[in-house]
Amino acid sequence: MPTFSFELYPPRSARSEAALYACLPDLVAAGPEFISVTYGANGSSREPSLDVLGHILQGTDVQAMAHLTCVGSSYAEASELIRQFLDAGVTSFLALRGDPPEGATEADSFLGDLGSAGELVQLIHRVQAEREQFAFHEVPGFPAARRIVSGSKVTIAVAAFPNGHPRSRSVSQDLDTLLAKEAAGANLAITQLFFHADDYLGFVEKARAAGVTMRILPGIMPVLSVNRLKRVLELTGEETPVELLSALESAPDAQAASLVGLDSAIGLSRELLAGGADGIHLYTFNSSDAPLAVLAGAGLLETSTPAL
Ligand code: FAD
Repeated sequence: MPTFSFELYPPRSARSEAALYACLPDLVAAGPEFISVTYGANGSSREPSLDVLGHILQGTDVQAMAHLTCVGSSYAEASELIRQFLDAGVTSFLALRGDPPEGATEADSFLGDLGSAGELVQLIHRVQAEREQFAFHEVPGFPAARRIVSGSKVTIAVAAFPNGHPRSRSVSQDLDTLLAKEAAGANLAITQLFFHADDYLGFVEKARAAGVTMRILPGIMPVLSVNRLKRVLELTGEETPVELLSALESAPDAQAASLVGLDSAIGLSRELLAGGADGIHLYTFNSSDAPLAVLAGAGLLETSTPAL
């Protein structure tokens, strides 16, 4: 059965916090493989991200995945950040380089000590290994005995860009970067949003041919309004999906536009699953209605057996 997972962002006000915690139980009840929590650009959301992760870790049995960015950090700062998340009980990360601060140019050397997400992947593994070199396991039948085993490992996901990262010079640069991230110790990739199944399926084919073996989960965003579509295109640099834009623009009201966006995300999910994707990762915008409708439409929600 293909898996599914969700992305949340840390709330920015008391009202959005209440909305997030109101939708969380429904997302958890659906049975996701994991729930990831974004990290504000340039470290602006360390505490709020930790709060949401703590909520998931303590109140649910779903795996909580922390996004972390390293842009602009020294090694010492990045190591301290990783330790803080490990201390909070996080064992699953999405390691990202992050974007430059607004207005920064390449000449400003905005990157800090870690130049790429691959270096952050290595640092997370190193910090975890230093923190927990060994673990002592009980030996069944010998109450006083302890077996020494190597310390537990962490799961590290990374970002992938089916239509190329906006700063990348070529598809092969994106594939090389992804391969380097796997070589650095990443074991899962999650893609940037995209609007056509072939973008993802073609990318996965090229990635496999280039030697990438880790799972590559397609990131899907239900886009329920023209404004939201314009905003995500601005943020991601993706090309305008002309058909979706025109269908959203022609919708007579907001509710009809939502249905257009949902239909589009459901159709995309179905095509991806039919094409071999072994799961989907949904950008939720901290709401449960749209993501659960997409999962139901894609046949990924287990329905209870009807009473006879
Ligand atoms: P890398 O893997 O280091 O690089 C990505 C690509 O960019 C590669 O192809 C690389 O070759 C190319 N590239 C990088 N720098 C250059 C350069 N200077 N010149 C030419 N090519 C270059 N951002 C946040 O701040 N917080 C989040 O929580 C967050 N979550 C995300 C989740 C997902 C699933 C995705 C896809 C993105 C997310 N981002 C987030 C955005 C991400 O930080 C940016 O896309 C960032 O620009 C690149 O990060 P990376 O980890 O992909 O970098």
